[in-house]
Amino acid sequence: MAIIKQLPLDQAYKIAAGEVIERPANIVKELIENSLDAGATHVKIMIVDGGKELIRIIDNGSGMDEEDARLCFNKHATSKITSIDDLDSVATFGFRGEALASVAAVAHVTLVTKHTLATHGTKVVVEHNAIISQEIVAASQGTDISVANLFYALPARKKFLKKKETEWRQILLLFQAFCFDYPAIHFQLHADGKIVHNCPSVTNLQDRITQLLNHEVGTHMLAVEHVNHQYTCSIDGIISRHDFHRYDSSGIFFFVNNRWVKNHSLMSALMKGYHNVLPHGKYPLCALMITVQQHDVDINIHPRKEEVKFIHPRIIEQLIQDSVRMALEARLSQEVNVPVRLVHSAPSNSYNRILSTERLLEESLRISSIAQEPFASIKAAPSYEAPLSIFNSSAYIQSLPKQSSLPDRTIVMHENQAPDYQIIGQYHKTYIVIEKEDGLFFVDQHAAHERILYENFKIRFKESAHIQLLFPQIIALSSGDLGLIEQHMDLLSDNNILVESFGAQQLRVTATPIHLQSVPLDDLIKQIIGWLRMHEHDDQDQLLKIHEKIHAHMACKAAIKAGDVLSKEHMMQLLRDLDKTRSNFCCPHGRPTGWLLPLSEIEKKFKRDYRSS
Ligand code: ADP
Ligand code: MG
Repeated sequence: MAIIKQLPLDQAYKIAAGEVIERPANIVKELIENSLDAGATHVKIMIVDGGKELIRIIDNGSGMDEEDARLCFNKHATSKITSIDDLDSVATFGFRGEALASVAAVAHVTLVTKHTLATHGTKVVVEHNAIISQEIVAASQGTDISVANLFYALPARKKFLKKKETEWRQILLLFQAFCFDYPAIHFQLHADGKIVHNCPSVTNLQDRITQLLNHEVGTHMLAVEHVNHQYTCSIDGIISRHDFHRYDSSGIFFFVNNRWVKNHSLMSALMKGYHNVLPHGKYPLCALMITVQQHDVDINIHPRKEEVKFIHPRIIEQLIQDSVRMALEARLSQEVNVPVRLVHSAPSNSYNRILSTERLLEESLRISSIAQEPFASIKAAPSYEAPLSIFNSSAYIQSLPKQSSLPDRTIVMHENQAPDYQIIGQYHKTYIVIEKEDGLFFVDQHAAHERILYENFKIRFKESAHIQLLFPQIIALSSGDLGLIEQHMDLLSDNNILVESFGAQQLRVTATPIHLQSVPLDDLIKQIIGWLRMHEHDDQDQLLKIHEKIHAHMACKAAIKAGDVLSKEHMMQLLRDLDKTRSNFCCPHGRPTGWLLPLSEIEKKFKRDYRSS
């Protein structure tokens, strides 16, 4: 008996449509493109439950007459081409007559539309790809299409939809891309009945950034413009300046011949343009429009045309890298020419950063006696009592290059043991130099303090307290970022950062952790948003990972820095604390905290390595 069965056609079609339509954002994209193809100048997008429950797009385009309102749901129905030969030259979007048919196969669709020349509108309701009602209605010119209950008949597909927030983020990114791509169009975005973005038509991208993010961000942008005449390609758009960065790559948009694309090599070319300009792990903001000749790019390598392949990828990458670098350099040289204003910096407050983790909790408000003596000079070395078991471990030294394979060690304090080291002093305001029997030991003061604080935060954070701010700090955020952080208020309050939303694009910080009093919090909060986004797809341990990162970040901010002058008492305290800390061989970012220059090495250098001499 034959085991192959022919699927009923409508089911086969549903499955095929499900292959093209993976998530709500795919539908939103097709529908907005249809609106733009229809010549709309105002497009309103309404989303409920991340698009899973409802996607509704209202435009003021040409609309459709009674007959087209029915025909548009047919497979391979399009007003845009009549034969395969038109395919390459067509300037509009879409899977060519597939979009509405596919959408109608996987969701309930209601279309209300009125053609420019018609006296009345038409309403069509479609379910399971069949028109179940059509009536004449009063309507204003344009098209209003609602797509409800996505994948209602494809439970297997429905299961694969991500949580509301994830689907919503995809839509928000898409919306931003359309806003950059079509500055002349008035776009509006609503979510669950609330308006999220209202972006009337503008004449430049700077204004778009201001509409989408906030005014401050708009002032950090630079224009980029460059043409390669030899290869007839060009780039223009805006990028963020050297003095601005983001914590993830979600603010980077590339367009090729007016089509939003995701392309890894374009991104790395951009980052090369920013080489040495941005801190490690930080990203710029940009909207870059690349124009190439139609035959120099293949847009059909992806079913939804989200990716492209260039015939001469190197040329395009070089174009991006050079134009970005040039724009940044031009800006920097402008700044250098500005007369320098002398600023008297406030004395370093490094000593107000709490040094001893033992005292972290009980003494955070009472400034220690050491702290009151901020510029204590290094006195002649007395003999120091604290033995440093950490330095006795030869395994520690030898294992440094492959630190990650080392198990955490709990260091035991030997209170009454005789000291076996001497602090020589501080070198380069960065390293504590210690004389030991078997060599010179260098401790990186920042890395060491960072590790101490980090371990302490991990264990005892909940016991510590927050300080109510006299003047709450206002942090400007995009509404997308605000929405994301609002879902994770616990994450902040667990770390003693108390916030409340303040308007549609601002967060107000009302209390901060005791040890972060002097640290600006917007950096941390924006970083947390970046992490939330980065770990969005890790269902397990997401929060745990972020907690760890928050602790590492706080430790880094609160720790003494390279360049802070330390008194001998401070150095001693630091070494004692380090000795008591688990995993004391490297900082939370993996840099070593200390390193031994063995005596034997020194002797070798001086050709004394034959002990007899
Ligand atoms: P395609 O866009 O490739 O033609 P679609 O399935 O997306 O295929 O749309 C089918 C047809 O329906 C379009 O060619 C267009 O004539 C009509 N149509 C769809 N959406 C709109 C709209 N918002 N306004 C006017 N006409 C539309
Ligand atoms: Mg279309």
